Amino acid sequence: MTLTQLSVDAQRAYPPRMSTFTQTFWSALAEGRWTTTRCKACARQTFPPKPVCPHCWSTEIEWSELGATGILYSWTRIHAAPAVFAAESPYAVGIVDLEDGIRLACRLVERDDLPLTVGQPVEMLVLQYGDGPLFAARPRGNNQLKSGE
Ligand SMILES: [Zn+2]
Repeated sequence: MTLTQLSVDAQRAYPPRMSTFTQTFWSALAEGRWTTTRCKACARQTFPPKPVCPHCWSTEIEWSELGATGILYSWTRIHAAPAVFAAESPYAVGIVDLEDGIRLACRLVERDDLPLTVGQPVEMLVLQYGDGPLFAARPRGNNQLKSGE
């Protein structure tokens, strides 16, 4: 699944650690591809990507695509941010239930026309920072973004 990509004129405040294993995920995300691992033994996907299946402990995994849409399970707005994120506050983070059955936490990109509400349909997207990508979600609808984002 190729995600919508938004350019961010900044560096990531807290870049993710990368390993030989997770490099595959981050390289795909940099190209806008939304992927994770699927177990070859039980066929279940997990997120974040893992070299061992947490359901059946198989080490036979493969990379697979994730769907871009889901529902906002919960969210909050951070006003008193950790020091490393202070320049970005206030900002919203949430828990998204993807239609693929994956639950994940991520930054939320807000829109003036679609306020954040529990149960709101959302789409995943890629924030392309100057030093690399991060994934995020935003309310699903038209492509009009809040000014400045
Ligand atoms: Zn498995």
